[in-house]
Amino acid sequence: MTLTVPASTLDYFGIDSLIDDDTRQLQAAVREFVDRRVRPHIATWYDDGQLPARELARELGELGVLGMHLQGYGCAGTSATAYGLACFELEAGDSGLRSLVSVQGSLAMYAIWRFGSEEQKQQWLPPMAAGEAIGCFGLTEADFGSDPSGMRTRARRDGGDWVLTGTKMWITNGSIADVAVVWARTDEGVRGFLVPAGTPGFTTAEITRKQSLRASVTSELVLDDVRLPADAMLPAAAGLSGPLSCLNEARFGIVFGALGAAHDCLRTTVEYARSRQIFDRPLAAYQATQLKLADMSLELGKGMLLAMHLGVAKDAGTLDHRQVSLGKLNSVREAIAIARECRTILGAAGITLDYPVIRHAANLESVLTYEGTSEVHQLIIGQVLTGHSAFR
Ligand SMILES: Cc1cc2nc3c(=O)[nH]c(=O)nc-3n(C[C@H](O)[C@H](O)[C@H](O)COP(=O)(O)OP(=O)(O)OC[C@H]3O[C@@H](n4cnc5c(N)ncnc54)[C@H](O)[C@@H]3O)c2cc1C
Repeated sequence: MTLTVPASTLDYFGIDSLIDDDTRQLQAAVREFVDRRVRPHIATWYDDGQLPARELARELGELGVLGMHLQGYGCAGTSATAYGLACFELEAGDSGLRSLVSVQGSLAMYAIWRFGSEEQKQQWLPPMAAGEAIGCFGLTEADFGSDPSGMRTRARRDGGDWVLTGTKMWITNGSIADVAVVWARTDEGVRGFLVPAGTPGFTTAEITRKQSLRASVTSELVLDDVRLPADAMLPAAAGLSGPLSCLNEARFGIVFGALGAAHDCLRTTVEYARSRQIFDRPLAAYQATQLKLADMSLELGKGMLLAMHLGVAKDAGTLDHRQVSLGKLNSVREAIAIARECRTILGAAGITLDYPVIRHAANLESVLTYEGTSEVHQLIIGQVLTGHSAFR
């Protein structure tokens, strides 16, 4: 049997054969978008700490990837696996790009789609699917990340209105969002609120000096007696399970996305090792290099098999949220290990933005932390295995 392993895909495991034709076409369209629109500029955007997010959002809307796995309201209504593979291609470009799409579709839009009133859905989902309106999702606070149940942001009733006070931290798309989904403590437990940009008392500040996810907007949201009408609350979300179910949607995208970043590192590194001459031979011809490449290819393929398996389960409606923890933990942990190992093969060249590897490695540090840290996912898995919660 002759195995051909195209350098362009490194699809040694034959993952492509698990993908149906429509999904493959969609994946190819996202890859083409990333190659044309993102790859030529991403190093500069990253270096400058900027992303033309509004412009890109419109183009991503045209591409049909914003809220793509949701039904109705201008959303594409694709399978979960197709959404995952789109995340793979987007994150092969940059984790910041995938974050823009994840937060828009899986956090902000999903919250409105799943928990919003019909009026809220009609108002926000079509323009968000088109990328004309941008959303953000404010759950984390400076003192409450892994444990959002301690949140201090509060919403109190005042006549027919709600009044929100508090501060949210590390919010992707925060300062560019047209609408913020803000989670706050009320007398009846945690509830979600739609806060339009420009509401008096609502301000944002961009977090600067990040050394990871530089091509992504991360912000602080400040709510200083923000008065909202009664219908600003998401009626169907009561308690923390609301925001946690949104996080689970975004984590599913990361299961695929992180492996896209790893794939981009490995592809770059194989090409580099083939052309780099060391002691008169290609670096790729040395055993030490091949052992590293083989191990990385193995982890990437195993990760993809798990991702595809979770995709099939999600499409069948049988996916348990704790299984998503397996995928998020594995994909990000292995992707970061692959990025670091690839960097060693590139030598000094690996520390520059001339190659994507150090950028992916730095980005993956954020991905390791957000949507549940690795330790949090280990604790979720540990609880499934033992029946004991070790969170407190
Ligand atoms: C770039 C970026 C973008 C983000 N975007 C968003 C966003 O859009 N919306 C949003 O709401 N949030 C966002 N976040 C916040 C993110 O979700 C939190 O950073 C994350 O939940 C971790 O919280 P923390 O940073 O406060 O860390 P902490 O919770 O303080 O954790 C610190 C360390 O303690 C460990 N730890 C926590 N609990 C336990 C335990 N029980 N046992 C053992 N170890 C434990 C953690 O694993 C970690 O290693 C973003 C973060 C980043 C970096």
